[in-house]
Amino acid sequence: MKKHSATKRAFRQYRSYNPKYFPLYFLKTIFKNISFYFNLWMTAEIINSLSRGQEKRELYFLAAAALTGILLIRSAAAVLDRQVETALEILENRQAEAFYRKTLGLDYDKIENPDIRQMRRKIDENQFINSYGVVNMRNTAELLMDCLVNLAFSAFLFGEMLSLMAAAPFSRTSLLLLAALTASVAGGFLFRLRGGQKTAAFWDNIGKHMLKENRLSRGFFPSGTDNRIYRQQLTIDRFFRKFNQEHRKIFMDTQHKIFCFVTVPGTVFFWLTTGFSYLIVCYYCALGAFPVGSIIKYVSYLGRLTECIQTLLDIPGRIWQNEKFLADYLAFFDIKNDMYQGSLAVEKRSDRQFDITFRNVSFRYAGSRSFALRNINLDLRSGERLAVVGMNGSGKTTFIKLLCRLYEPTEGEIIMNDFNIRKYDYRQYLDIFSVVFQDYNLLAVPLGNNVSCSASWDEERARGLLEETGFGKRYREMPRGLETPIYKDFDADGVELSGGEAQKIALARALYRDTPFIILDEPTAALDPIAEAEIYEKFDRIAGDRTTIYISHRLSSCRLCDRILVFHEGRIVQTGTHQELLADETGKYYEMWHAQAQYYA
Ligand code: ADP
Repeated sequence: MKKHSATKRAFRQYRSYNPKYFPLYFLKTIFKNISFYFNLWMTAEIINSLSRGQEKRELYFLAAAALTGILLIRSAAAVLDRQVETALEILENRQAEAFYRKTLGLDYDKIENPDIRQMRRKIDENQFINSYGVVNMRNTAELLMDCLVNLAFSAFLFGEMLSLMAAAPFSRTSLLLLAALTASVAGGFLFRLRGGQKTAAFWDNIGKHMLKENRLSRGFFPSGTDNRIYRQQLTIDRFFRKFNQEHRKIFMDTQHKIFCFVTVPGTVFFWLTTGFSYLIVCYYCALGAFPVGSIIKYVSYLGRLTECIQTLLDIPGRIWQNEKFLADYLAFFDIKNDMYQGSLAVEKRSDRQFDITFRNVSFRYAGSRSFALRNINLDLRSGERLAVVGMNGSGKTTFIKLLCRLYEPTEGEIIMNDFNIRKYDYRQYLDIFSVVFQDYNLLAVPLGNNVSCSASWDEERARGLLEETGFGKRYREMPRGLETPIYKDFDADGVELSGGEAQKIALARALYRDTPFIILDEPTAALDPIAEAEIYEKFDRIAGDRTTIYISHRLSSCRLCDRILVFHEGRIVQTGTHQELLADETGKYYEMWHAQAQYYA
């Protein structure tokens, strides 16, 4: 990678989120500096006027000019300040939105990829906990602007001082004082360069530790129930005590090193520079090169000038240190979606005739050595009720995800109405499925939006479906009906839901979409057996001519299905109706059925 290439690219991208921000910030910096230098300049003029014993009128005039100037400059600065704050708000929102959109827009296999998840998490942590990445880049850009503007002002005014000094007689003392000042400034610069690198390395070390601390405090939050039963707090306390001892030691060591190697020498050089600045300015004042009031302004200019140059010297180190975080940030944006999107339109069929065939399909997860699915051959007939059963990890959910094109087969192909499903327009293909996955997600928005997945809803239909899925009683207790917000994240009047209630809403949402395929991946896990039996009966009726696939652990629910697929270790080991499968006493289904029958007898 070319030197600072990530910084340049990241800056261009970041700036584009609100191109107004940096020019506005630059303008604000100019006004901030005008305010500072004008103040100093006017104070010096007033003291000079006093020391010359000028008339009161001139003094009044100067004071009035100072006050008017300050009022005007400060007012302009205040207006600019507001604009800068607003521009920053827009910039940060758009940047966060771009990051979020990139995440949501990734192919499903990439969102699920543990390396990519880890990458995203690291970017988040570095940005929000350690302020590296784009936050650091913005701070550095602001610092650079502050320094450059400051430098321009102080150098200009410093030039004025030099020209006055040049007009005064030159002596050995002035030469010595100038040499001493130059030496202390140069020493300060050199030291700052070295100290800056050391500080960066120290903070880098602490930063790594802070990330760990943050992960620990988030990952170690005990659940209310487990904490009471297993006294998890004791384990956590022990762990944290040990971690905190280590943390304190590293922190104090770092602080100690920074104090010895950075703070103390820095203070000495600062003291020397300020001391020689005073001596030179006072010496030339005594020689009559400039009036006494100018002492205050020239000492301040000198201080600012050296401070600016020293800060400027820090900037390459800051950029260099942040480069790797920006490279990670950009690498996330560079992840390419490689899933074939297809272009073939999915026919809009009122008869819902979509026949799907799995031809020798095998699938292996990225980074996994073993196949999650092996040689699946299957015809899904339109309108049938299919049950998928099998032990945990036998491949049922993976099978559904391949069917819905969330993953692509590693081997083999899936055909729908004569074409490989890859050929169909991806969005249109997804639109023929309604799935209630185990990790379904409801949003903290009104119930109606959740059911319809849209800004508006058909009230009668939504209400009817909520009744059908068993949510009716709770629904009737809600005075705001479909307008009732779910959860309290954004509305204090929001309702909390039990696992079973949330699942009933998710079922209603799946039915509301009215798609040719409806798939329930253990939809009733959070429901009691009576509610489950009711739902299956009703579902069968509501599903009508749709192709329905149930994944269930409770085999009793599969009895009504036209066909049952038994998965075992990634393969379909049996197919048939409940009666057919039970007749095979050596089969997996027979074994599972009898294992469960003990509990349901
Ligand atoms: P089931 O739904 O029958 O419980 P799954 O389809 O979820 O089974 O899982 C099948 C196999 O694939 C299991 O061995 C599981 O550990 C593995 N697996 C599931 N999801 C992933 C994933 N995202 N990455 C890697 N392996 C996975």
